[in-house]
Amino acid sequence: MILLTPGPTPVPEDIRVAMSGKTLHHRTPEFEAIFAETRTLLKKIYNMDDCIMLASTGTGAMEACVINLCHKKALTINSGKFGERFGKICKAFDIPYTELKYEWDTPADVEQVIKEIKNDSSIDAIFIQVCESAGGLRHPVEEIAKEVKAINKDITIVCDAITALGVEKIDTTNIDALISGSQKAFMLPPALAMIGLSNSAIEKLSLSPKGYYFNLLSELKKQRENTTAYTAATTLIIGLKAILEKMDSIGFDNVYAETKKRALATREALLELGLTIYPKTPALSMTTIATDDANTIRKILKTKYSVNMAGGQDHLNGKIFRINHMGLVEDYETSWAINSIEMALYELNKRVYDGSGVRTYTLNKFLKN
Ligand SMILES: *Cc1c(COP(=O)(O)O)cnc(C)c1O
Repeated sequence: MILLTPGPTPVPEDIRVAMSGKTLHHRTPEFEAIFAETRTLLKKIYNMDDCIMLASTGTGAMEACVINLCHKKALTINSGKFGERFGKICKAFDIPYTELKYEWDTPADVEQVIKEIKNDSSIDAIFIQVCESAGGLRHPVEEIAKEVKAINKDITIVCDAITALGVEKIDTTNIDALISGSQKAFMLPPALAMIGLSNSAIEKLSLSPKGYYFNLLSELKKQRENTTAYTAATTLIIGLKAILEKMDSIGFDNVYAETKKRALATREALLELGLTIYPKTPALSMTTIATDDANTIRKILKTKYSVNMAGGQDHLNGKIFRINHMGLVEDYETSWAINSIEMALYELNKRVYDGSGVRTYTLNKFLKN
């Protein structure tokens, strides 16, 4: 089965092998050296002042950022399940918040965000996805961060980049916290989360430390000494070091360029097949197609062609399907998926089969500049 869901992504064989060593104790010079090297690589991909690794899924890091970086009131952006989650976390901790809600194909409106922070001076943190995976859209986070900081530099900008870091270069100039997770673009098993932090976020952490397990200040202090407050996720950190070394040896910018070409070529190929791209501002991490045949197409792909793609959740169940571009996806995998979609459309009497999908993918991926 070709796993082409936008998380989890398949773990490459060399990374699985790297994680297959004997158990290391986490309080040893041997593991601390691995931890130090991983931190260095992580800082390189993050391009931020510091970073933290947490033994948790991405949602744990979202929770950690909400409780540690919002001291008064949050502004949350909800264009889908993951944006909605920030609001649910605020609610769970009785943190006041305002939510700007959009349809799942619609990115945040910069003007509206600005209006909100101008009207409500109690807002001290904004929570937004870089890519909202529910519909595969890209929010204008850099623009929002820049404009908000120009008005009030003390508003903390927290971005969930779980399906963006490792996919594309993110301008972190005005971003205070950038969340990522192991099972998406880093092609690792789930349950390791990472947070990049700006110096101003670190200052804010120090003002009023919060939480116990997710106390980011005490965690950061330990991690600066190349250890962790609690037992480190040793195996996953060894995996993270291996994948970051691999991406670094390819060149992070080359990985981003390749992902972009793959995403754009896929988009062209599926448009050529007569399909419709769902989000108004598609992200590069996945291609989301809007079609009422979504579940039938996914079923044909799974049972006849051994391709596992993701569907939609909630009101988009049966209305969309999503193809992953994160990680080191091979061109034959994406071509196979596109060809399978064309075959499925033919089976459903939606179009003829003439190989247009793969031809368009190949043309756009390899022949055009
Ligand atoms: C996958 C994902 C998460 C985190 O999910 P976990 O299941 O907690 O790892 C958060 N935000 C986005 C945008 C995601 O795609």
